[in-house]
Amino acid sequence: MPKEIGAQNAPIEPADNCDQVPILVYHRVHPDDDAPPVVAGKHCGHVLLSNFVRQMNYLHDHSFSVITHQELYGWLQDEVNLPPKPVLIDFDDNRGAAYDYAVPILAEYGWRATCFVITALADGKLPEMEHDGSPWYTAMNWQQLEQLHEAGWIIGAHTRTHPNLRELAEAGCHERIEMELHGCREDIERELGFTPFCFTYPEGEWNEAVEAVVAQLFATARHWYKGYPFRYVTRRSNPLRLPAHNISERLSFADFVAFVKQTTSGDAMNG
Ligand SMILES: [Zn+2]
Repeated sequence: MPKEIGAQNAPIEPADNCDQVPILVYHRVHPDDDAPPVVAGKHCGHVLLSNFVRQMNYLHDHSFSVITHQELYGWLQDEVNLPPKPVLIDFDDNRGAAYDYAVPILAEYGWRATCFVITALADGKLPEMEHDGSPWYTAMNWQQLEQLHEAGWIIGAHTRTHPNLRELAEAGCHERIEMELHGCREDIERELGFTPFCFTYPEGEWNEAVEAVVAQLFATARHWYKGYPFRYVTRRSNPLRLPAHNISERLSFADFVAFVKQTTSGDAMNG
């Protein structure tokens, strides 16, 4: 397991006030004047650039420490301490709108995030996920992902084509599950030259049969929640069941603050 801890996000001094670690999950960041509508009753997969900037500024101004999944895993293994007020920033689905608008802002702060990759999207082989070819939904290619990796980001696995793995398991499609998980890991190894250690479930959908395969291939696996209550990673969290909260235009700034500021309190549900 890789144990390197990156310099940019490195803890200045250990702290014991990190009982609860929030994981923020983003998908796409769009300029305010070029964003898709938020449709009532439908999933929202984006934040406006102005709101993303406001959220990142809040983390910076309130001295949060952006850590990676590598550091989180080291903490869960009792191998490293975390800095004060730790928080993780994840981008699922390797979307171009995250690369174009979020990456430069994180670079300004010297923060590293994690990108969970749908490898067929990076290959340019998944046109049905492009939403009628809208430029809003372009994907990061392998060259862009390599740039992120070289900048210290963690590149994680998110299957080859983003199916609902729980439904596949319930339908008995075990070969397809093997292909999605092994294939995704192999694609990243082939294109980027390393073995990803972290995984996240498409749509947060999983069951124990899928998890058994995931456990053979990855050290950590992240879940995904859209609703309340907020859930946090704790010392006692199972590394294969890391809770995380989706951040979108549906979440108010007040709720964003409520989610991250509870890193040191004990009144939210633990994951
Ligand atoms: Zn996804």
